[in-house]
Amino acid sequence: MTSWSNWSGRIKSSPATQISPSSEDEIASAIVSARDRGQVVRARGTGHSNTPLCATDDVLVSLESLSGLVSFDQENLTAVVRSGTTLNHLSAALHLHGLALHNLGDIDAQTIAGAVGTATHGTGTALSNLASAVEGTRVVLADGSVVACSRSVNIELFAALTPSLGAVGIITEFTIRVVPSYRLHEKIWFASGDTAIASLEANIAATRHYEFFWHPSRDLVEHKALALTESAPNPLPDTKRERIDYSHRILPSVRSARFNEMEYSLPYDNGPACFAELRKRMIDKWPNIEWPVEYRTVASDDLMLSPHSGRPSVTISVHQGGDKPCDDLFRDTEQLLRGHGGRPHWGKVHYNDGNDLRSHYPGWDEWWNTRDRFDPDGVFLNPYLAALRTNA
Ligand SMILES: Cc1cc2nc3c(=O)[nH]c(=O)nc-3n(C[C@H](O)[C@H](O)[C@H](O)COP(=O)(O)OP(=O)(O)OC[C@H]3O[C@@H](n4cnc5c(N)ncnc54)[C@H](O)[C@@H]3O)c2cc1C
Repeated sequence: MTSWSNWSGRIKSSPATQISPSSEDEIASAIVSARDRGQVVRARGTGHSNTPLCATDDVLVSLESLSGLVSFDQENLTAVVRSGTTLNHLSAALHLHGLALHNLGDIDAQTIAGAVGTATHGTGTALSNLASAVEGTRVVLADGSVVACSRSVNIELFAALTPSLGAVGIITEFTIRVVPSYRLHEKIWFASGDTAIASLEANIAATRHYEFFWHPSRDLVEHKALALTESAPNPLPDTKRERIDYSHRILPSVRSARFNEMEYSLPYDNGPACFAELRKRMIDKWPNIEWPVEYRTVASDDLMLSPHSGRPSVTISVHQGGDKPCDDLFRDTEQLLRGHGGRPHWGKVHYNDGNDLRSHYPGWDEWWNTRDRFDPDGVFLNPYLAALRTNA
């Protein structure tokens, strides 16, 4: 028996076996022999999810030995990347060739497979999540076969894989859309809590990426705006809150203090009223929370299990320190976020069962049917995922 924990320490499990295969053949034989023993196989990235997606007592597969940029096409703006590549390594490798990801989230420590697996996103009304940048994948299925799929080849499988919660197969390679390298001018400023909504639309319209962090204990807003610029990289030393650099150096932060997070994606127009209600609730009931509420925007997509599917979205997330209890805070505020049409982030704490999730996703049953067809024995279903189906 071995031990495994996610980044925040909230999820722990004791896999019988942990492996880091370096080829599709190795992955296939690990899956087939686990299936023959009646064991579950779960793939993991860097464990930054804080739902029990990767938890298993059986076989945990790390893709860290399958990493790196395989090829790129500057004309068609695509790149082929191994699934265990972290976003920071991918960004650095793309940058050497004048290319970049269209967006990044708050950090870049995750793997591309983990980010796609949970529909990880950044902020920007014109910018969809990272799963929507996938043009094709190679995946090892429950029977050990290796299948290539895309929007035009094996389309049902492809649709179930983006995102897939690691429940359809183990992905070994992605073909993704990329963009030419771009530079961003970052500006950060603080203002009173009232400015969060009062200046929201103007702030969103003004730059490529805008978000705010509202600090409940001080009713203070940290506004963060990143505008495209042709200017040269520059630390702008006169003020600590302004700098210019390439996107992959500006977009991600380094988060060293551990925390848990709950995030919901809401229809774009519901964001301001939802935030206003949440602000009031937190001032009234949770005034001492030291961690911020984060407000971002995400473009609509057409992916079956994407929280942003079919609607321009805002995301609102509530954080709590990793050393503090979070369930009462998250359960209380979750009701409010759900009341505004929110769908949970797959990799962040939520308390939905399968029935709740079906009500959020019109393609829920179709996704399960496709998944079950490719994995009839449930090799990729840990108890957490199996319960989501049972309850639906
Ligand atoms: C500090 C921090 C900041 C974050 N910031 C953001 C943010 O800005 N925006 C946002 O949307 N999210 C954010 N997240 C959430 C994070 O991006 C997701 O949880 C993401 O899935 C983590 O990637 P990972 O590599 O750690 O994957 P893991 O958490 O290890 O795995 C995630 C899922 O991917 C599956 N998976 C992994 N590898 C494979 C594979 N090869 N084949 C098939 N399935 C696979 C796993 O089975 C699992 O279901 C943040 C999380 C933390 C802790």
